[in-house]
Amino acid sequence: MGSKIQATFFNKAVDKFEGMIKEDRVYTFRKGMVKAANKKFTTIKNDYCLTFGPFSEIIQTENDAKISRNSFQFTKLSEIMKNELAITQTMKTQKFQCLDFIGIITSVGEVDSINLRNGQQKDKRDYEVADNSADGGLKVTVSIWGPKVSSLEFDVGQVVVIKDLKISPYKGVCLNGSDTNFFSDATSLRPKETSSLKACYYINARVELIRNDPKMVYMACPTCRKKLYEEDTSRSMYKCEKCDITTNEPVPTYFISVKFTDGTGSLWTKVYGNNALEIMGNTQPDELFKMFQNEDDEENDDVRKFLNTLNFKEYSVMIRPIINNYNGQESLNYLGSNIKTYSPEKNNHFLLQRLSLYQDL
Ligand SMILES: [Zn+2]
Repeated sequence: MGSKIQATFFNKAVDKFEGMIKEDRVYTFRKGMVKAANKKFTTIKNDYCLTFGPFSEIIQTENDAKISRNSFQFTKLSEIMKNELAITQTMKTQKFQCLDFIGIITSVGEVDSINLRNGQQKDKRDYEVADNSADGGLKVTVSIWGPKVSSLEFDVGQVVVIKDLKISPYKGVCLNGSDTNFFSDATSLRPKETSSLKACYYINARVELIRNDPKMVYMACPTCRKKLYEEDTSRSMYKCEKCDITTNEPVPTYFISVKFTDGTGSLWTKVYGNNALEIMGNTQPDELFKMFQNEDDEENDDVRKFLNTLNFKEYSVMIRPIINNYNGQESLNYLGSNIKTYSPEKNNHFLLQRLSLYQDL
């Protein structure tokens, strides 16, 4: 795993060792001095730092590959969110609060040129990244700064490792990093984390269409929530094959097909149960079920009219790809959950607050 420590060379030590110490080589360091680290001036996570003088001895040794090139100490988003207050306090006393992060990209922003107070300009690009540290996943905005942000080629759905991110506290938390600390080949760095992260991602998208289908409300078992089969239409009796019971108190439940659209394309998703409530305008499934029942005469198209009112609204949606096996045929489906109304006002407000943190750069 490994860890890092900062080493500083002054005056004569610079003359002696400069040119001799090269990146990617392995050395034995002797006769250095240990001090407590001043965390105001370093991004390296260590309580101590080293100082070397002209009396120190530094000898190159064989690279047996036991020391990894990149050591990471990943912080989960749930820890960051949980410690939001503590982080705000820490920021007042320490210049940097750094962490490494592994997550999946859920949106890629445009390159922005930001005017700094000192008259200079700095390029910035926002990425939304998510991890799976809480049920349903958490996401955060990561702003990457530097001249290379326009040539960074990272896409939605890619798992990335980002080193040395600075936490900025404002309403919520955002992370800031440099364009040189991005690693897209997270798969080779961390195969296990990558596969579990690939399991879900977020999109911001509009509802393009909700499929008008009487099966969008089904009768669920009050115990196990599985689909019930109508046993006796005249007495409204239903049977649960799993629980092996019959009931006349089924629970009407949503199972809807929604087509979401964003700037990059569209995607059909399945949305189950209460996840569908927000999209359905908080109309309860039994109300929609009644609408379908009243639709028997051909003049009545209440359902269609109602579904039309729900289109074009924008949501933040967690997407989970699932493989269904149906009669030996595998098919890929997308489940939508964690659906919340997308608020551009809120997003812009956060952006302005974050920019104000860069006034002094
Ligand atoms: Zn059941």
